Amino acid sequence: ASTSIPSTQKVVLFNKNGGPEVLEYTDFAVPEISDSEVLIKNRYAGINFVESYFRIGLYPSKFPHVLGREATGAVVKVGKNVKNLSVGDKVAYLSGGTFAQYTKFPADGQLIKLGAKADDEKLKLYAASLLQGLTALALVDEAYPVKAGDYILVTAAAGGVGLILDQLISKDKKAHVIAVASTDEKLAKAKANGAELLLNSKKLSQDEILAKINEFTKGKGVAASFDSVGKDTLDLSLAALGRNGILLSFGNASGAVPPFSIRRLAAKNLKIARPSLNGFIEEPEEFQYYSHRLFDLIDNKQLNIDLHKVYPLSEYRTATEDLEGRKTTGKLVLEIPN
Ligand code: NDP
Repeated sequence: ASTSIPSTQKVVLFNKNGGPEVLEYTDFAVPEISDSEVLIKNRYAGINFVESYFRIGLYPSKFPHVLGREATGAVVKVGKNVKNLSVGDKVAYLSGGTFAQYTKFPADGQLIKLGAKADDEKLKLYAASLLQGLTALALVDEAYPVKAGDYILVTAAAGGVGLILDQLISKDKKAHVIAVASTDEKLAKAKANGAELLLNSKKLSQDEILAKINEFTKGKGVAASFDSVGKDTLDLSLAALGRNGILLSFGNASGAVPPFSIRRLAAKNLKIARPSLNGFIEEPEEFQYYSHRLFDLIDNKQLNIDLHKVYPLSEYRTATEDLEGRKTTGKLVLEIPN
């Protein structure tokens, strides 16, 4: 079954690694689907920092690389062996190639049906929350199961993942968030989302930051550092840890963490982990568990998704320049043209 589907579409892609100038908003073939795949017509696609890692070549990709990791939309075509999805189903899903009007998707992939009642606002909200929400949940539940009363350091605490972490750690886990961000406006946002100690990385030296953490934690240090900034914050994140603490290095917004001697972990008996969302949701039950937990928190208003801005697909370059230029807080979303 199918509705009328064009043979070409608009996408955002790159054909070589580089800065935002290598991005192209261009015509591209609508993918053919196999018997076990569906075709999804996208409505909104969430923007994530990871797109820039592929573009600059920090993470490998094949060319042309159509960007995007998540979207919401509706199924417009189903392969003949597909039983679980029908034309018209509204969905939120994780997949490559979502900065496009149409994305082909394996019927057993990471997808949630949103129900016939899901309106445009809901499609926008779920495109804004899926990847970053699952990441934050897996980090606080599994990568380091946060305990009530813990002191936790969060870098980029007003970013997309950051604002969700602030809320989950402070409200869901009842622990103390120590927020690091580069402006006072960002720190005010982190505070509104549950952070207690606010540390401006542009105004304070690392020694001053560590002294404030030491005072706030009564000399104990933090139980875990949730570090998505990478190269620039590695030393801070390790130094802030207390005895038996764990560094979760889950991103590299400032560049990749360079190799270092594991001997650095010995004095405080530290642990270090490099968690990746896929490692927590590869099994269908795991994906279902975390996505239902996420959507329950959102639907019950226990988790607020802070939308920075909705950009048209054609303006992804501006969006990522804003994101990479550290001008944004919360989540950036693309609206896909009809
Ligand atoms: P953010 O909205 O958090 O944007 C990145 C933030 O990083 C900036 O706002 C900025 O905050 C901070 N930053 C610090 N140094 C730099 C720098 N040199 N250049 C740019 N930004 C810098 O992005 P996302 O919420 O999309 O992602 C947050 C992080 O989480 C990313 O590192 C991403 O890769 C990671 N991630 C990892 C996943 C995983 O599976 N491991 C899954 C999802 C996200 P400030 O100015 O306050 O320092």
